[in-house]
Amino acid sequence: METKVIKLDYASLDQVLLQEAGAVLRQGGLVAFPTETVYGLGGDALNPEAARKIYKAKGRPSDNPLIVHIARREDLHRIARNISPEAEKLMESFWPGPLTLIFQKTEQVPAQTTGGLSTVAVRMPRDMIASAFIQASGGFVAAPSANVSGRPSTTTAAHVEEDLRGRIEMILDGGQAVIGLESTIVDVSEEKPVILRPGVITREMLEAVVGEILVDQALIQPGSDIKPKAPGMKYRHYAPKAELIIVEGNSEAVAREINRLVNQWEQEGKRAGVLAAEESKGQYSQGLVKSVGSRKQEEEIATHLYQVLREFDETEVTRIYSESFADARIGAAIMNRLLKAAGHRVIQV
Ligand code: AMP
Ligand code: MG
Repeated sequence: METKVIKLDYASLDQVLLQEAGAVLRQGGLVAFPTETVYGLGGDALNPEAARKIYKAKGRPSDNPLIVHIARREDLHRIARNISPEAEKLMESFWPGPLTLIFQKTEQVPAQTTGGLSTVAVRMPRDMIASAFIQASGGFVAAPSANVSGRPSTTTAAHVEEDLRGRIEMILDGGQAVIGLESTIVDVSEEKPVILRPGVITREMLEAVVGEILVDQALIQPGSDIKPKAPGMKYRHYAPKAELIIVEGNSEAVAREINRLVNQWEQEGKRAGVLAAEESKGQYSQGLVKSVGSRKQEEEIATHLYQVLREFDETEVTRIYSESFADARIGAAIMNRLLKAAGHRVIQV
């Protein structure tokens, strides 16, 4: 299949092109599109056949449910029921934006879209192209991240092409995704809201709106036998091709240990990479060193993480040693993704 790439300009959205993309979706095809978090691989959420195509294009296990994207609050009731007062408050504060909420689903949503669950994940993106595209598509777009399953999520149209060219009908190019990490997921289908996946809408921000909020135990004790409530969180994810290992401890000790490990690896004739913060990248004398951004700008690290992991894929590097990052606020989301990419391999120094 030929994949058509369409460049769109935020300053003057081309309605004709958006209608063309919407028509592809209405006819059951797949269109990748930019959102403020990462690129999404969209299909008609109310069409079971489209959901099947999404799983196939990504090579994603079909028990891993998709997030349904909407463009208007009033469309929510068609796909979700039992909307709690907490959910209303969260939507009031954070929609449109990088927050996904889990509700009880209505009959309208096919089981293929929700991986057989009786709940549905819903998000209303803030991105103008995403919003216009969803409206042109009939209002309900099922979209996981637009990457091949197991690879880092895509934050540019070029990344999407790398992974999905020839497997989908169309890619809408809106430049670089501003946030760079997937949405925060909060389950509001039961008594108390629970965070299932951390994101740039932090626990502190959510608690300021609805009071104390629980965190899925599987996130607190990763690597344990506790089954995550977001089925997708159980898969090794966001992984670069090279083996990734995180080194954690005080910054001097971390630099010393990474230098030693890189030296050891390269003495065996293999190439090593270092994933470092802007402040400490100068401490590494060997290996391919890449900065992911300043520790003082967590947003910047979030934006660049997947891009840097993909850049390593273009190189000869077979082992990457990464510094660790603070685990509070947005750092919680950054470390969640980094730990998953590393398959939870951490060296403490
Ligand atoms: P992705 O769109 O690739 O970021 O993946 C969507 C994430 O949302 C996966 O981790 C899913 O497991 C999670 N998710 C989607 N629907 C549900 C649901 N109904 N209940 C819990 N988690 C969900
Ligand atoms: Mg994903």
